[in-house]
Amino acid sequence: MFALCAISLSPHCCLSDLTSCSPRLPKEGETIHGHNFFIGFGGKGANQCVQAARLGAKTAMVAKVGNDSFGDSYIQNFKDNGVYTGKHDLETASSSQIRACGCLHAGENAIVIVAGANMMLNKEELQDALAAITSAKVLVCQLEISPQMSLRALRMAQENKVTTIFNPAPAIPDLDPDFYRLSDVFCCNESEAELLTGSSVNNVEEARCASRELLRRGCGAVIITLGAQGCVVLEAPESTSKHVPTTPVSAVDTTGAGDSFIGALAYYVAHYPAMRLEEVARRAGQVAAVSVQSMGAQSSYPHKRDLGAELF
Ligand code: ADP
Repeated sequence: MFALCAISLSPHCCLSDLTSCSPRLPKEGETIHGHNFFIGFGGKGANQCVQAARLGAKTAMVAKVGNDSFGDSYIQNFKDNGVYTGKHDLETASSSQIRACGCLHAGENAIVIVAGANMMLNKEELQDALAAITSAKVLVCQLEISPQMSLRALRMAQENKVTTIFNPAPAIPDLDPDFYRLSDVFCCNESEAELLTGSSVNNVEEARCASRELLRRGCGAVIITLGAQGCVVLEAPESTSKHVPTTPVSAVDTTGAGDSFIGALAYYVAHYPAMRLEEVARRAGQVAAVSVQSMGAQSSYPHKRDLGAELF
């Protein structure tokens, strides 16, 4: 039985980053020397799942990887992080999703994404994951392809009284209204909230307004993350949102901070069902604040042993 099931149905759910650093970007037809190269693991669903697992949650991942060395190493990465991947029938003849990045010290970059295998998860495969989803305490779902597939997973969870956390990332303007009704916790960042509500979300007050609008659409609770400003939490039927500040830290790389927050959120919701959402968000914010203090996404995510006892 899984304490937590993180499911990802998006092209970004398991993504291998191939990053090379060079003094400048090559011109068309040119070959230049780089001074650094590394392969990293990323993708929203995978990041969230790995963060939850590092805090001690039993996690399972429903996704698709290519039948190639990138897919193999991604499965190994899940295993290394204690994430359950079943019998690996997630592999497909298609190639894995790859993001090749050229980056410069000045911060400029050029990126090529090959969407690959994740696009191919279908409803029969989702049905195969029914037992994993319905025996979980929490389902985390993102939005990048096939909104119908995401809705199907959320319905499976809701019908089986599994708590749903929905992260509408990346946001699409005309989100099916059912997404709101199927979300126990609807968690997004400022730019996603802005796109969904059509109003600017640049500060706490604007996030409070956006959270009221999103809650009105039918979710059980709304969390809007605000980077260094923490987040705003609004639970039905309350009309007063809470601003939850995060720990002031000196951030070196905020890549994947939102995924660290959501992974931690899922962990706390699964393990402390009686905890107020405001406190859950405070703790998740502290976990995410640790992640921004080192480089990368998954590579920066803390384990339980790295965190203070007061968070558990
Ligand atoms: P996203 O990565 O989706 O844009 P945010 O930037 O809103 O997400 O970050 C998610 C959470 O990570 C924030 O609510 C906060 O808890 C933490 N966080 C992000 N940036 C910082 C920062 N500079 N200092 C401290 N905490 C941060």
